Amino acid sequence: MNPFSRAFLLVFAAVFPAIAVPASAQGDLRLHTVVIDPGHGGKDSGCVSRDRKTYEKNITLDIGRRLAQKIAAGYPDVTVKMTRTDDRFVELENRAVFANKNNASLFISIHVNSVEKGTTANGYSIHCLGQSRKKGNDLYSKNLDLVKRENAVIQLEDNYQTTYQGFDPSDPQSYIIFNLMQNAHLTGSLTFAEDVAAAMGSKPIRHSRGVSQDPFWVLWRTAMPSVLIEVGFITNPDDLATMRSDEGRDGIAENIFRAFSTFKQRYDSSMQVTSAQQEEPKKEEPLKENSQEAAAPAPAPEGPVYGIQVLATGKNMSDTDPFFHGYKPLVVKSGKLNKYILLTDPSLKTVKASFGKIKHIFPDSYLVKIEDNSTVPVR
Ligand SMILES: [Zn+2]
Repeated sequence: MNPFSRAFLLVFAAVFPAIAVPASAQGDLRLHTVVIDPGHGGKDSGCVSRDRKTYEKNITLDIGRRLAQKIAAGYPDVTVKMTRTDDRFVELENRAVFANKNNASLFISIHVNSVEKGTTANGYSIHCLGQSRKKGNDLYSKNLDLVKRENAVIQLEDNYQTTYQGFDPSDPQSYIIFNLMQNAHLTGSLTFAEDVAAAMGSKPIRHSRGVSQDPFWVLWRTAMPSVLIEVGFITNPDDLATMRSDEGRDGIAENIFRAFSTFKQRYDSSMQVTSAQQEEPKKEEPLKENSQEAAAPAPAPEGPVYGIQVLATGKNMSDTDPFFHGYKPLVVKSGKLNKYILLTDPSLKTVKASFGKIKHIFPDSYLVKIEDNSTVPVR
């Protein structure tokens, strides 16, 4: 680490305290507020089509508005806030501050991708916060150009060197700060990202580039499950035609809305289990049911087990990592992700009895059933 980085880290740690605030601490346990963040705006156009006629900032605003209308119509009990509702410049840091101040349960940032002339790429991608990986002395990320470009909008801000404490979006050394994060909301973020990927499917944008974890500033600074969606490539003729049409933009907003519905349903049902247990802990262990359980035959070892998923990440974590607070996790591999599950037991009732306690430590955790080496959420 060079002297600059060391000084930078010290300053940074002092200026920005830990941001993880469990939503459950705020009273309402449901998914009650969503913040939609249309990328760019005002003097920041974002990326621009090859013919210079279409700007990212206008596409993100239109999709954001449509999504907001759909959620407001479908869920009157959910407060929907937007970081901007018109063509204005909003600082990157303030987008996250806005979501935190509103105590949002979910943050959805909408963007459009692009590539240099002479290169081709198409499709949508969904991003959660992830640590930068180092290869030798360089930051390694397959999405590095994208991350640099989206973070570089801070350079349009008047006092960005003060606000961002010297963070330089184009300098790989600067990204070392993302290695300091404690990402308490990673499980929730990845779960919603997977919901979005499933809902986006193959239309109106045809190609999926998948879910990945990358060091986006705006995701780092939010204190709730957060995703950034690159809905398509402004430099690809097919993607652009879709994003230029009303039906195309509405279809994209509808997909994100369906993902929101899936996520909200799961979020609210897991919160209900938690609150019921917090309110009536004594009803959890009636004597009669316990003796019934004791008399039951031991379940076959290959049968399903239940547990509490606390983290899904591409990283390999040691089971003694402080993140797990002394609990020994079971790891279930799913593609590139490792899912870390605590307190596994063949009895769902036994697992449920500990859920309230775990939820206090891991606000995004939820009950899962593990069978054939895969997991499904339990309602
Ligand atoms: Zn963007």
